[in-house]
Amino acid sequence: MLDAIEAVKEKMVLACKVLQKQRVLDGYGHLTARLSDGRILSTPHMPPGKVHYHPDELVAVAAAGQGIKVIANCGVHFYRGTPIYDSPVLIRNHQLGDKVAATLGDRNAVLLRGHGGTVVSNNLDTLLRLGLDLVRSARIQIMAAPLGALKTHSQDECEQMVKSHDRPNANRRYIDYYISEVVD
Ligand SMILES: [Zn+2]
Repeated sequence: MLDAIEAVKEKMVLACKVLQKQRVLDGYGHLTARLSDGRILSTPHMPPGKVHYHPDELVAVAAAGQGIKVIANCGVHFYRGTPIYDSPVLIRNHQLGDKVAATLGDRNAVLLRGHGGTVVSNNLDTLLRLGLDLVRSARIQIMAAPLGALKTHSQDECEQMVKSHDRPNANRRYIDYYISEVVD
């Protein structure tokens, strides 16, 4: 069990380094993992099982009242919607955490108005990918918005593409690239 915890810790440290290097995690964002025995490993306090971060791109999109529009392939994970938690007040207690969780529902990302966003997954590799791809999607959406009407991926296209993410090691190459940026 100890080795398993050490392995999760090591992964979390790497994930934090990647998120910081990519400028999606600032001094206040954090990463949390729920261990198989139910205990929580966290960088600071936050409801369990969530990465929580403050990229400007997410703040801008949420302020416009928009969720992520799937206009690029990095956005397909979010085709079931990215609801907006409509309060800028920091999530400092379980009650507020429960409200964020209720807004999130069964989706994998929620935008926090004026604040940032949270992504959830049952494994750290996917969590890291969702964290990075959510910000990239928001950035592309902001870049594309002044160009005119945006063509979004259809539900069918998204479903087909998301299926390929379920194959074993689907995230490996993606994750290895970002880890290579922070490890010599
Ligand atoms: Zn925060």
